[in-house]
Amino acid sequence: MENQKMYELLGVDEKTYNFGEEILSSLKERFDAIDKIAEYNQNKILYAFQKERVDASCMQASTGYGYDDIGREKLEKVYASVFHTESALVRPQITCGTHALTVALSANLLPGDELLSPAGKPYDTLEEVIGIRPSTCSLKEYGVSYRQVDLTSDGGFNYPEIEKAINDKTKLVTIQRSKGYQTRPTFSVKQIGELIAFVKNIKPDLIVMVDNCYGEFVETIEPSDVGADMVVGSLIKNPGGGLAPIGGYICGKQELIERCAYRLTAPGLGQEVGATLGVLPKFYQGLFLAPTVTAGALKGAIFAANVYERLGFKTVPNSVESRHDIIQAVELKSGEAMCAFCKGIQGAAPVDSYVTPIPWAMPGYDSEVIMAAGAFVQGSSIELSADGPIREPYAVYFQGGLTFYHAKLGILKSLQELINANIVKL
Ligand SMILES: *Cc1c(COP(=O)(O)O)cnc(C)c1O
Repeated sequence: MENQKMYELLGVDEKTYNFGEEILSSLKERFDAIDKIAEYNQNKILYAFQKERVDASCMQASTGYGYDDIGREKLEKVYASVFHTESALVRPQITCGTHALTVALSANLLPGDELLSPAGKPYDTLEEVIGIRPSTCSLKEYGVSYRQVDLTSDGGFNYPEIEKAINDKTKLVTIQRSKGYQTRPTFSVKQIGELIAFVKNIKPDLIVMVDNCYGEFVETIEPSDVGADMVVGSLIKNPGGGLAPIGGYICGKQELIERCAYRLTAPGLGQEVGATLGVLPKFYQGLFLAPTVTAGALKGAIFAANVYERLGFKTVPNSVESRHDIIQAVELKSGEAMCAFCKGIQGAAPVDSYVTPIPWAMPGYDSEVIMAAGAFVQGSSIELSADGPIREPYAVYFQGGLTFYHAKLGILKSLQELINANIVKL
């Protein structure tokens, strides 16, 4: 059977399919460049596996306290090697990205210290962690103050204001690589490196943490290659390769990671405890697959930008911009269009394809959020997913796809739903 007929079975009509094919034919060069990066990162990871002598004994499950878990210790060495850091904490006990960031921040900030975000507002869920929105157990409640310098109107770093914001109390600088739920640009690793050099030049003992969520393996270098003292992320995004069922990582300087481990478990116990309960094969194999999975997701994001820009919607990044994370924002101009888009993504899913996503209040977010995901791992956003808060500018954030073909189907289905709802006409 022809490809087009198969798409028709899946609910994409011929006109929509042909529109997609026409756009795809213009993207070959960009896709080739992505494959080159994936190839490099695949070998970088393989080199780390071999250097650390990963073997069958690493795939065992520990239980109880999890003392002497060789597989866990080696996995952390592999992560440290991949990110070129002294140490790493990679654990199923880190429940999500927000948790990993919370551990990294609260382990390394003490009462009286100040946290600085020189790159504007951080990710929504961090507002309560920091205390920007009041919350019990926030850093603010523990006496850690917070300062923020917004980006300039063209999305750049406001260097004069950053210089003014750094003071005696400033202890830790947090930089979010990905745009998250904002329509600012995502920073390249090079840009992050320039910002790190700038702040460290003013105050050399500053700790720089980068929220690396969604950025891993999009480029051949990571923020830890350009001076970040800690890089932090979630295993149900890029580095878990779609296989990790839970978890987070923090890679960085030995003394900082040790504090993170003391915070995560208990002072004195640190990295010595934490049973892995059988997840290690998925952590290892997921990391091994992460570069190709990330490449598929990136291609999907570029395809989406090109499809929706052609139809007159604002896309961030736009159809031709260079990419530094796997997120694609599409400003759909209405809540109704966001719902139709998400319905299409949901309808493309391997799991829960028959349900219709509706907007809902979510913990950690200050407006209703719509989410489409039919994932093998619940909430995994390296799998094909779309979400966004129902508020101006009605941007839907599309990401993931364990394979490019799946991302492609999702985008075509989203477009079909917009056509069916008379919001878009080809
Ligand atoms: C996803 C994400 C987080 C938080 O991760 P969760 O796993 O959802 O808690 C933090 N920062 C950025 C930029 C993210 O994309």
